[in-house]
Amino acid sequence: MGVLDFVGEELARLEREELRRSLREVSTPQGPEIVLDGRPVLNFCSNDYLSLADHPLVLASAKEAMLTYGVGAGASRLIVGNQTPHVEVENQIADFLEVEQALLFSSGYHANTGAIPALINEGDVVFSDELNHASIIDGCRLSRAEVQVFDHNDVEDLARRVRAFPDRRCLVVVEGLYSMNGDLAPLGAIWQVVREHDAMLLVDEAHALGVLGERGTGACELADLPVGLGRSDPRILRMGTLGKALGSAGAFVAGDGEVIDFLRNRARSFIFTTALPSLLAAAAGAALRLVRTEPDRRRRLLENARKLRRKLAAQGWDLGESIAQILPLTVGAPETAMDLTESLLAEGVYVQGIRPPTVPAGTSRLRLSVCAAHTDAHIDRVAVVLARAGQRLGVIAHPT
Ligand SMILES: *Cc1c(COP(=O)(O)O)cnc(C)c1O
Repeated sequence: MGVLDFVGEELARLEREELRRSLREVSTPQGPEIVLDGRPVLNFCSNDYLSLADHPLVLASAKEAMLTYGVGAGASRLIVGNQTPHVEVENQIADFLEVEQALLFSSGYHANTGAIPALINEGDVVFSDELNHASIIDGCRLSRAEVQVFDHNDVEDLARRVRAFPDRRCLVVVEGLYSMNGDLAPLGAIWQVVREHDAMLLVDEAHALGVLGERGTGACELADLPVGLGRSDPRILRMGTLGKALGSAGAFVAGDGEVIDFLRNRARSFIFTTALPSLLAAAAGAALRLVRTEPDRRRRLLENARKLRRKLAAQGWDLGESIAQILPLTVGAPETAMDLTESLLAEGVYVQGIRPPTVPAGTSRLRLSVCAAHTDAHIDRVAVVLARAGQRLGVIAHPT
């Protein structure tokens, strides 16, 4: 069978299994109300959690940087692409996280696929939670280390596996707040295991940065891991993205200065790619200032999430263990998730259905994400529409 036959048959199979994907077109900035495929809809699936992607100060910072530094960075960071906004945002991130250094990558996908293979190689072992993001999975594969996938959030399983490799270099990788389940990693217990075996811990804070913790630095802060001023353990690395709560694009890995310098020398996805346009670094810097000066933004976000969670739980939706702004409504079959998405769209509400391979087979879901700028009226509206669609499709019971 030739490549073209393969392509045709695979597409037909995806179609049959309700797994074929296509793009929808958004003709507005991100926000609670967007125009999707030419129609105004309520947006409940953006990761722009703090509603900063269209904030005037963020735009102004990007614009000023663009006028000063141009658009393209022209080269990789290590050649001539390292412009002032890159340096400034790295310093800002390091200061915010109270670590020695941060290293900017072009995206979270670059960060995970660069940092993991730099830290471990053939002959080493990486322990990865079964629900980790695809960029972590790919980073593990690229490393050529032995990959031990442990049951989601199961510290016993992790400990048992780590104990089986007493003399190997070990890296444990987890997400702070899981992207598709919205639940927290048990970081305190995971850190115990990591420390006892002198392994290293990489925490992907993509969904927790700017959202969780008193200062908004993420799940490590919330779990009171030894991170931060004067108490940082060099075995903990944090990865975060600038494209979610910070409303820009790009990502970083932050921690001990020597480890970060090592990544600067060894992470291939950092070395062999054109630097992120510096206007995006400047935009992320402005967003970070807002995270620090406007803590009410994350409080509003979490309050919105609480309100919507209460309404959906009362309707009988299965929300799993989700705790914050990500509300997964697990329905099982991919066609049910897509039927729900279409029913909601017909009523002017957009919530993307999530299907395999993004989530395990049999756990297709609607993944709602709440933003700081959602109003009570937006939240009431999505709840009403979800109740109607869920009852019609038999996913939740009719009120008795
Ligand atoms: C989004 C995401 C990434 C990738 O970040 P990008 O900047 O979008 O490439 C990595 N890890 C997790 C957990 C994510 O949700």
